[in-house]
Amino acid sequence: MVSQVHLGHIFHIAGSPATGDAADALVEVPDGALIIDAGGRVAYCGAGSDIPAAYRDEEVFDHRPGFLLPGFVDTHIHFPQTFAGDAYGGGQLLEWLELCIYPAESRYAEPEFARLAATEFCARRIAAGTTAAMVFGSAFPHAQDALFTETRRRGLRMVSGRGIQTTGEPSATPLITSEDDAIRLTSEEIDKWHATDTGDVDTALLHVAIVPRFSLAVTRRTLKNLGDLYDSVRDRGVYFHSHLNENNRPGTGEVDATKQAYGVATYLDTYDGKFLPGSAVGGKSLLGRRSILAHCVHCQDAELRRMAETGTSVAHCPVSQQFLGSGTMPWQRTLASGVTVAAGTDYGGGDEWLIPQVLSAAFKVHISEPGEHGVSMHPAEMLFTGTLAGARALDMENRFGNFDVGKEADFLVVEPARDPALNGTLAHGIRSEDPALARAQTLFALLMGIRESAIAEVYVQGRRIDVS
Ligand SMILES: [Zn+2]
Repeated sequence: MVSQVHLGHIFHIAGSPATGDAADALVEVPDGALIIDAGGRVAYCGAGSDIPAAYRDEEVFDHRPGFLLPGFVDTHIHFPQTFAGDAYGGGQLLEWLELCIYPAESRYAEPEFARLAATEFCARRIAAGTTAAMVFGSAFPHAQDALFTETRRRGLRMVSGRGIQTTGEPSATPLITSEDDAIRLTSEEIDKWHATDTGDVDTALLHVAIVPRFSLAVTRRTLKNLGDLYDSVRDRGVYFHSHLNENNRPGTGEVDATKQAYGVATYLDTYDGKFLPGSAVGGKSLLGRRSILAHCVHCQDAELRRMAETGTSVAHCPVSQQFLGSGTMPWQRTLASGVTVAAGTDYGGGDEWLIPQVLSAAFKVHISEPGEHGVSMHPAEMLFTGTLAGARALDMENRFGNFDVGKEADFLVVEPARDPALNGTLAHGIRSEDPALARAQTLFALLMGIRESAIAEVYVQGRRIDVS
């Protein structure tokens, strides 16, 4: 690969800020140049009139008046629900799982269907500009093989692991394995796919996670065995991923059901080795810097504290939380705990593949939180949550997530002209005379208005991914 000069309207969050400091870290370069070196890393990000002499003869890709943004990071999405978006179950989380999702995921038992789904899943991800993702995997090893194979072929970043279930409803039967098989199949997936694209966890695009569906779908023995397994592979950079405190509908919600089933003080205790009655310690913790828990809508303060203390991150999925009636993750209280909050589509619990649509939903639900809890998110916080915070949650902030020099160049070309509504908003919307507010207004209109049709080009490590 030779070095490349891309011209466009640049937005990114520089450095390594906390969410609340994102506005100060927002960089806008209206007539900008993003230069990628031959190794696929950012060599320069700045004014197009100021390109360093060493790069003035390189090939120029002029995307003006298009935008250059960091690739979006989806920290929670379900591969076996590729065709399960907008599934109607007539209830909330647990009813929807039993009626719609377990049957949909069971179809991946058929290898040909699983391959079709892997192709479609990667195509939808690319169309949405999702360059990196934590992917909740299929129970079936052949389906995971298809997903990793297609992800590698397309050149995308992914962390994924087979969905582990050792107990559950009758409709989940095809997804349930024995206790021993749950551990054996997960170990085999780690050995087969973890960092195997480069052989080095620090340069790999593919990583493996240990992924129990949620505590209700596994037994105490499975949690104990997974804790032992995770302890033995932590230093290889393996991840942990699951759901936490998603739905607390009175009587049938997952939060109360979990606490009752395990007899624990907090739901988080079940992932923290404290899964015996009274939250007594029964095994090793699954929490840490490479652990991401989806939703966290109904966390107790002690849970948020423990997540922050262990470096465990939150995948915030407001589109899904609205779809399943799960409530609103308290934005200010969650951030105040110090935990990293990144964005997740949770497709098919969510019905949008686009991270900007998740950020749009976040803006709407958090401005609607009651009383003093309501907040108007700054557009820079939105961009941060959908890009750099995702890289941080994946413990790869040192590699990608913004356009700091030296980062691996994951970026998108957004062409508003491909979407008349977005184009009109950007061209004719009002702008403040205050430059900082005008900048925020442009970024807000862009993030709220992006649809798949406007995403023209997608790059990972400076390599262009075929969008079609
Ligand atoms: Zn989910």
